[in-house]
Amino acid sequence: MSKEERKSELLNMWGIDDENPEFAVLPDSLQEEILQTDGPVVDVMSPRYDPLLMEALKKEYVGVNNDYLSERVSRIVGEEVVVEGQEDKFFACPCCMYRTLTERGQYDICPVCFWEDDGNDKLGHYSGPNHMTLAEGRDHFVRYGAVTPSALKYIKPDAKKRYYFGWWGLVRCTATSKDQDS
Ligand SMILES: [Zn+2]
Repeated sequence: MSKEERKSELLNMWGIDDENPEFAVLPDSLQEEILQTDGPVVDVMSPRYDPLLMEALKKEYVGVNNDYLSERVSRIVGEEVVVEGQEDKFFACPCCMYRTLTERGQYDICPVCFWEDDGNDKLGHYSGPNHMTLAEGRDHFVRYGAVTPSALKYIKPDAKKRYYFGWWGLVRCTATSKDQDS
């Protein structure tokens, strides 16, 4: 991970405090630094910040599939690493069908299409938080790659690679080979 990447991950996490569960696992000296300063006081490359970085990565990659993690970790450490183990089988987003949701109906925002999950699965039902019906959301996702064109800037370019598509197996394989072709 580059210095810039480390810096931005650390600054993103810097706002945490003892109300966040991640905070408790950090060493005391780092907890103190976070509470008393606006950002890292020594070089961001220092291993001092590794525990905080680990928490940032865990948060970012929750629900992300092992293929993606293997590729990502290999790139960070500079050698081939295969991430194995039980993957969480998340709920499929009702709009894009990627498995991005830890719960349904919690108004979580899907990182693939930016649909806000109000728990509804009916196509014609108007969704207040999304300002459109689910049918319109799906149509927009196909057309723009997000529920609205302006949401695109919040979506990571490789978001689709990170999560499994709703139907296991067949569809996921098709989606992966299409990604590789392009
Ligand atoms: Zn979605």
